[in-house]
Amino acid sequence: MDEKDIRNIGVLAHVDAGKTTLVEQILYKSGVISSLGSVDKGTAHTDNMEIEQQRGISIKSAEANLIWNNIEINLIDTPGHIDFSSEVERSLCILDGAILVISAVEGVQPQTEIYFKALKTMKIPTIIFINKIDRIGADIERVLNEIDNLLTDSGLSFSVFEPETQQYSDILYLLDDNLNYDTYKAEKENLIETLADKDDILLERYINGETIDLKLIKDRLKQLAYECRVYPIVYGAALRGLGIIELLDLLTLLIPSASKKHNGELSAIVYKIKRDKVLGKLAYLRLYEGQIQSRDIIYNFTKDTEEKITHIRKLQGQKEMDFNKAVAGDIVCVSGLRKVSIGDILGNPSGIPVAPKIATPLLTVQVFPKQDGDYIKLVEVLEELDEEDPLLNFQNIKERNELHIQIMGMIQIEILENILKSKFDLDVRFGNPSIIYKETPLKKGIGFEAYTMPKPCWAIVKFEIEPLPRGQGLIYESKVRTEDIKLRYQREIESHLPKTLEKGLYGWEVTDLKVTLIEGEDHVMHSNPGDFHIATAMGIMNGLAEVGTALLEPIIAFRISVPEEVGGKVLNDIVQMRGGFDSPVIMNGTFTIEGEMPMATSVNYPAHLGIISSGKGIISTKFSGYRPIPLDLGAMRERVGVNPLDRAKYILFARNAIK
Ligand code: GDP
Repeated sequence: MDEKDIRNIGVLAHVDAGKTTLVEQILYKSGVISSLGSVDKGTAHTDNMEIEQQRGISIKSAEANLIWNNIEINLIDTPGHIDFSSEVERSLCILDGAILVISAVEGVQPQTEIYFKALKTMKIPTIIFINKIDRIGADIERVLNEIDNLLTDSGLSFSVFEPETQQYSDILYLLDDNLNYDTYKAEKENLIETLADKDDILLERYINGETIDLKLIKDRLKQLAYECRVYPIVYGAALRGLGIIELLDLLTLLIPSASKKHNGELSAIVYKIKRDKVLGKLAYLRLYEGQIQSRDIIYNFTKDTEEKITHIRKLQGQKEMDFNKAVAGDIVCVSGLRKVSIGDILGNPSGIPVAPKIATPLLTVQVFPKQDGDYIKLVEVLEELDEEDPLLNFQNIKERNELHIQIMGMIQIEILENILKSKFDLDVRFGNPSIIYKETPLKKGIGFEAYTMPKPCWAIVKFEIEPLPRGQGLIYESKVRTEDIKLRYQREIESHLPKTLEKGLYGWEVTDLKVTLIEGEDHVMHSNPGDFHIATAMGIMNGLAEVGTALLEPIIAFRISVPEEVGGKVLNDIVQMRGGFDSPVIMNGTFTIEGEMPMATSVNYPAHLGIISSGKGIISTKFSGYRPIPLDLGAMRERVGVNPLDRAKYILFARNAIK
C-alpha cells in the first residue's frame, strides 16, 4: 500500500470557465460517480453547500479522490470567484500539479493571470485546459495567442480541433509505446522539432542527426513539464465530455507523483480547518514526508506545541473513510489537534512550499445581529468562521460592542449572510463596507523614545524610518550591538513592530517602509521585555509624526467587455471613478477595455454595469496594488485604545493603570 503513486492536483480557473463541470466529468469518467450532475441544475457533486448549489459558484475548495491509469489522484477543486481566492491561496501549498481551465469564449481573464503567475512562481507543473470549444464564439487560436502573450510562451498543444467540421482529435497517440513510428514520421518530426526548441538535450541530438526514440521523447517531455519549461495544452468541452480522457491521460503521463519518503521525519502542512458536530475541530493536512498514525503525538512547528491525533480520515472517491495511518503524499483530515490553525507546519518545515500572496481583502465591514440576544452567538460563530478563513481577520471591539471583518468583495458579504442564516440560524445585517486604506512614510526621519520613568522601567530606542517602493511591505534591521540592547529585548522590538505599525497617523496600517534600530540602551536592573514594547510603540509613532505619512488606496485592474453601443458610457463611468484605461478593442460588436481604477469608487460597479448593458457586460478584476491619494479623497480610521503619541496617557494605559 505504501508504494502507490499519489498526485494532488488543483483545478484552478476564473469563475464560469467551466471548472465545476470539468471536475464532474472527471469524476464520472473515472467511475467515482455513476451519474453526471449539473451546475445549471444545482446537482454538481463538488458544490455540496446549499449556497453553492443555489448560486452555481464554488465557495470552498473541495477534494475528490479517483484512480486513473493506476495512479491515485486527489483532485482539489478551488473556487473561481475573486472573493474566495484566499481558498485558492491556501490550496497552492498542497499541490503536485494543476489544471488551469480557460474558456475558449472568454479567454484569459485577469484572475487567470494571477493564478498562473502563482503556479509558475511555485514551479507547479500545470496542464492548461481550454474549455467550451463547442460554444458559439469559441476561438481557440485567439486563446492560444492570449496564453502566449499573457501567460507563457511554453504552451504545447496536444489537441487538434477543426471548428468547421467540429472534429476533435489529439496527438497523444504519438506517445504510445506500441505506435509504429514509420507510419507517423512527419508527426513525430514535428513533435521533436517543437520540443528541441525548448530542450538542449534534444536539440543537440537533433542537430547531430542522432536517433531520438520514443523513450527519450517521453523522458524529456516529462522533465520539461516537471520543470515548467513546457505547459501541455488540451482543448475540450466539459459539458459534452470532450477532451477529458486526454486530459487525464496527459496528467498521469506528465505530472510527477508526490514523494514517497514515508520513513523520514514528519513534514506536513494544515491547509483547511472545519468543525464537525461529533469530532470537533478537523484539520486537513498534506503530508510531504513521513507518516502519521492515529494516537501519534505530533509536533506543531509553527506553534511549538505537541498534540495527539485521535482520528485520521481519508477520501475514497467522495467518501471520507477512517484510516489508521497516512503517508507522504496523502491528503487527510485529522481530529484531535485542537490548537492548530490554517498554515501551521507539523514536524519539519523544510520542503514545505510557500505560496505567494494572491488574496488581499480590500474592504472592511461591520456585522450586526438583527436580534440583540444573538450577539454572543454571533461572536462565537464569527470566531469559528475566522478559524476557517483567517483573512476575515475578525475583530471584536469590546469597548464599543462592534464586530468587524475584512472581505474581498460584495459577493462574499452575500454568501456570508446566507451561511450565517442557513448553517447557524443567525439573522445579520452588514454595514456599508469601507475601503482598507494604508499609510506610508513621506520621507526619511528619526523616531526616538527614552522610556525611563516612572521606575521600574528602562528602554531607550532610536529608529530610522524610510519609505520603500510600493509593495515592499516592512523591512526591519538592527544596527545596535547586543551589548547595548540584549538580544532578547531586540527580539521583543522586532516582534512588536508589526503590531505598532497596524495603526499609523490616520489609523491605517503603515506599509512599504524600512525601520532600522540605530541606537538604544537597556538597563541591567530596570529593563523588562514589556518596556521595549511600550518604547517601540512610542518611538515609532513619534517618528511617523515627524516625517508624516501619505494615505494609500487599493487599486484594481479590470477588463470590461460590453456590447459596442454601451462602450462610450463605460468610458465615461471609468473617468468618473478616477480610473484610467488603454485603447479599447472593438471586435464582432463587442467593446473590450482594460485599465485600472480605485476600489473605493468601483465597489458597486459590477451591478451598475449589469444594468447599463442589460446583463450582457462582463467585468473581471484583480487587485493591482496600493497608490497614494490626497487625504480628503480617502478616510481616516478611528483608533480604539490610546494613541502612543499621547505619551503620558499611553504609558498609564500600557501599564494597565487606566482603561
Ligand atoms: P465554473 O464557475 O468555472 O465552475 O464553471 P461551471 O462549471 O459552473 O460552468 C459555467 C457555465 O458554463 C455553466 O452554465 C455550464 O453549463 C457551462 N459550461 C461548462 N462547460 C461547458 C462546455 O464545455 N461547453 C458549453 N457550451 N458550456 C459549458
